[in-house]
Amino acid sequence: MRADDLSEDVIEIARKIVKEGPICDNCLGRQIAKISSGLSNEERGKILKEVLRTKGVKIEEGKCWVCNCLFENLERWVSKALEKLKEYEFDSFLVGTKVSGMLLENEEQIWEISGASYAEPLKAELNREVGKRIERRTGKRADFEMPEVVVILNLWTEKVELQVNPVFIYGRYRKFKKGLPQTRWFCRECMGRGCEKCNFTGKMYAESVEELVKGSVLAEFKGGDMVLHGCGREDIDARMLGSGRPFVVEIKEPRRRKVDLQMLEEKVKEENEGKIEVTGLQYVKREMVAKIKNAKADKTYKVEVELKTKVLETHLKNALNKLIGTVIEQRTPIRVMHRRADLVRKRKVYDARLVSFDFEEQICVIEIKCNGGLYIKELISGDEGRTKPSLSELLGTGAEVKELDVMDVELK
Ligand SMILES: [Zn+2]
Ligand SMILES: [Zn+2]
Repeated sequence: MRADDLSEDVIEIARKIVKEGPICDNCLGRQIAKISSGLSNEERGKILKEVLRTKGVKIEEGKCWVCNCLFENLERWVSKALEKLKEYEFDSFLVGTKVSGMLLENEEQIWEISGASYAEPLKAELNREVGKRIERRTGKRADFEMPEVVVILNLWTEKVELQVNPVFIYGRYRKFKKGLPQTRWFCRECMGRGCEKCNFTGKMYAESVEELVKGSVLAEFKGGDMVLHGCGREDIDARMLGSGRPFVVEIKEPRRRKVDLQMLEEKVKEENEGKIEVTGLQYVKREMVAKIKNAKADKTYKVEVELKTKVLETHLKNALNKLIGTVIEQRTPIRVMHRRADLVRKRKVYDARLVSFDFEEQICVIEIKCNGGLYIKELISGDEGRTKPSLSELLGTGAEVKELDVMDVELK
């Protein structure tokens, strides 16, 4: 943009604006920001003022009536931001502004005069100018899509606030201990407030997979909190073995973002020996949470079953063969009726094979692969006819699950 490119129209707008009172180059230039690219608003404002002076217009000096000389104090905002950012590890950031009511009103006033058709909002300029300076000083890049940290310039409070976006890590967990829920269970009596029944912990169980992982992970990321999103969950009494269950942990307000995940796997293992282990950790994007929450998965279980009357091994094998490829119709089990709607689910059994059989004790170990969401205890017992067919029905005798381990969760 050169002085002689300016139309009479634009010059007329500028003349009206400077008549209102002293105005800084940034605020004047911003009113015609969309006319030309390649210049800063400050440069645009300078050119406009020169043109006006050659036309004999008197330009008042003094405090800018629009921004109160905010742009002269950019460095103050930059150093406030850098001070806050010092504590955090990040590669990408974005600057945002909460404009005060005063400035909003001033801006509306100037838009009334300028017509606003070529103008850029004050906060857009402030974000960009402070952002450029932070980029220069830190070597980090501004990211408009997915910044790791958002720097908010709060013009009301004169303070810089940070919004630190979470880190997401995908992995699989194995659980070796029974009686360990995936996430914290609030005490049913007191709903978490703490009572005699829960020994004033507010919890049904002292620990959970989530709490154990959190204990090891949070210290490394120096985060505020952590949530574990599991791809389904196993029974509290079931162990999770084999390749483990997929999960994503969300670490909120992390001060560190580049933790060595191999080291983290070892740390979790050491600190939670005999309870849990995590494997295959990798950094992922937020979308992964929804992905594993909605994922359809096939499950493989190892089940120890007690038979109520003596059954021959061939008889048992025949019954298991009949389950393979069968779609099981399962009404909501009696034991979960109090918290689940009563409906009929259809789930397929892909494989059912005998691992070992103790004829004397009538105890057998079976491995079953099926669609996720099939209730295994009921597939064995029949749940008083609510699950059809069942092992119990096929054998013509009572059958009950004694032990249940999840061996694999296969994402589809
Ligand atoms: Zn100004
Ligand atoms: Zn309680």
